[in-house]
Amino acid sequence: MDKGLRRELEQKVLAGERLSYDDGVALYASDDLAWLGGLAHEVRTRKNGDAAFFNVNRHLNLTNVCVASCAYCSFQRKPGAKDAYTMRIEEAVRLAEQMAPSGITELHIVNGLHPTLPWKYYPNVLRELKKVLPDVALKAFTATELHYFEKISGLSADEILDELIDAGLESLTGGGAEIFDWDVRKKIVDHDTHWEDWSRIHRLAHSKGLRTPATMLYGHIEEPRHRVDHVLRLRELQDETGGFTVFIPLRFHNDDNALSHLPMATGAEALKTFAVSRLLFDNIDHVKVFWVMHGLTLSQLALQHGADDLDGSVVEYKITHDADGFGTPSTMTRDDLLELIRDAGFRPVERNTRYEILREYDGPVADRRETPQAMRV
Ligand code: SF4
Repeated sequence: MDKGLRRELEQKVLAGERLSYDDGVALYASDDLAWLGGLAHEVRTRKNGDAAFFNVNRHLNLTNVCVASCAYCSFQRKPGAKDAYTMRIEEAVRLAEQMAPSGITELHIVNGLHPTLPWKYYPNVLRELKKVLPDVALKAFTATELHYFEKISGLSADEILDELIDAGLESLTGGGAEIFDWDVRKKIVDHDTHWEDWSRIHRLAHSKGLRTPATMLYGHIEEPRHRVDHVLRLRELQDETGGFTVFIPLRFHNDDNALSHLPMATGAEALKTFAVSRLLFDNIDHVKVFWVMHGLTLSQLALQHGADDLDGSVVEYKITHDADGFGTPSTMTRDDLLELIRDAGFRPVERNTRYEILREYDGPVADRRETPQAMRV
């Protein structure tokens, strides 16, 4: 990158000006990771100070049986496969009862697109879960699942969302986004929920008062320009609705799926993706690093490259853990998370699903290390 463009981009970031598509592509072309991280840290600090957010949650996958076979997916199974499973409502409730004493504030539920379960199963399961976890936010279903419910029920997304909200739904999940660009998407996604339906469903959810996350699956066959395009589509939708709480870059894992031959994104590429995403999103407050997909050490570094949020204390996570060859633990407790955040030099803040603050903790212990130094531009 020539010095003039570098100075121009720095000035735009420091002045809080919105970056363009060309700016995003130029940032990805830079190999100066410290510079990118420094710029992103400037924006992250402006928005969130030295806070690193987390929540205490659990994940629940009601079924891994799916009619689709997305190329990047290590989770789905076909009916009759020996490790295919589908929970009866009573089984899901029994698991929820076991979670109740752990102080969780959120239950995150995503599932395969099951070929024969009736649509009513989904609101029914939410109603029963809400009975045993009345104070826990149910963050459930991707836009892809909502679109599938439209097909199997004959109802509109409007009617479906009304019934799910009545049953206790507090937020959709951010999945099913992958990469919106059609040239990439048509090669990796095996269902017909694309940008038009994904955005329609989140727009509708926002209009009903739900706030939702948005994700991006990176590090497979896409190029940096596709990541920029993905972020700018979401940024435009956020201008319209203001309903997104957080942006979550998800790292593709190459184990046990149709893209296993691809190398995974390197640590540097992951950090660059966090940094550029943070710089482009002037209208979303939070960028989350999902530690299950990035490992603990890279997650700590991501907090220095634009991220300000870690996923919660996940005790059971099936979808990527099947693809995790990094020795990442499958469970983290609240104390584990506090330690991880403080060790990275940040102040832990526990939040709920809507990013309202529940509890603030002390930052790093003063005599354990020097005062944390934010990277500077
Ligand atoms: S990503 Fe979701 S829709 Fe695609 S195959 Fe996996 S479970 Fe099914």
